[in-house]
Amino acid sequence: MQKEKVIPFNFIPDKGGRTLKLGGANYMLMNDAMYTFYERSMGDFSDFFLAIRDKKKILGCKCTKCGMVRVPPFVTHCPDCNFAPTTRVEVGQVGKLLSTPPITYFANALFLDKAPFGRGRAVLKGADTAMSVMLYTTTGILTPGIFNRGTEVKIIFKDERMGEICDIFAVPASELTRAQIAKNGLLESELNFAAPKEPKYGKPTKKDAADFKQTVKELQLLAKEMSASPRVRRAIEGWKRDVAVKCKAGEFAMLINDGDFKIEDKKLKSPDFVLACEDPRYLLDGLLYKGAITDSVITKKLWLSKNIEFNTIFKLDRLARFLAREKKEQAAK
Ligand SMILES: [Zn+2]
Repeated sequence: MQKEKVIPFNFIPDKGGRTLKLGGANYMLMNDAMYTFYERSMGDFSDFFLAIRDKKKILGCKCTKCGMVRVPPFVTHCPDCNFAPTTRVEVGQVGKLLSTPPITYFANALFLDKAPFGRGRAVLKGADTAMSVMLYTTTGILTPGIFNRGTEVKIIFKDERMGEICDIFAVPASELTRAQIAKNGLLESELNFAAPKEPKYGKPTKKDAADFKQTVKELQLLAKEMSASPRVRRAIEGWKRDVAVKCKAGEFAMLINDGDFKIEDKKLKSPDFVLACEDPRYLLDGLLYKGAITDSVITKKLWLSKNIEFNTIFKLDRLARFLAREKKEQAAK
């Protein structure tokens, strides 16, 4: 496996240049580079990060006078005790959230491949202060309500660790077995992210079935229209996903393939992910630019089997936006 680079490969521009038209004249712009790499010392914090990387342990500091345990160990001397020295202690890997955490759905470029994630403050067993930690669920897409104030969480270690705070994250303890909760240094690969429970919608009525058929038809027509526009195709350029869409009254396939967008009346054997919604109209409305599909995910009308596929939903919203914009421009002409 190739090692990840400090500067992601896609941020590095190609050799060459472009022409910029300004005030009727052409100007030449060339791509060039200036390198500024540096090493950042973790200083007195080093043992905290080394313990995460090499020992799968969480360290805190304990005041030799008042006994307060701070995690992470961000002071060497206690400010409450006339700067009495602190000593290193290991703390537990189960804790409780201090408050209901915010969820980041729309992350900046640095965290795009990690969203959606919760930003929790967890008080671990044996600690007196809260530690900031990223929060995930093993039950599909992260939505509000999974984490609340007081929710018991468990620290999970990534299998590949570099010695940074993103090497760890937390999941609800209620999603784990007793043995997993008790085990220190539990690895991400020991969790079951692959088989999240799909929502159940009950038996469809005749009307549900008829509505489903009609909506799928409309989705197919819309997909055709989207695929026919070079400009709209750009919203899903380079993206390829086979999505199984499961509704109360049936299932269909949504196929995204480098600009091609298709809705097919079939069941996929091995989809990239599952999108579940009671009524497919939520999806249709989103693609018609009547309310964002991302909002439907956040408000739990749509469920995704994989957290990271929020990225795909984000692209579907762009697809809808591009088509709406094109139609508006055509109408104005
Ligand atoms: Zn103290």
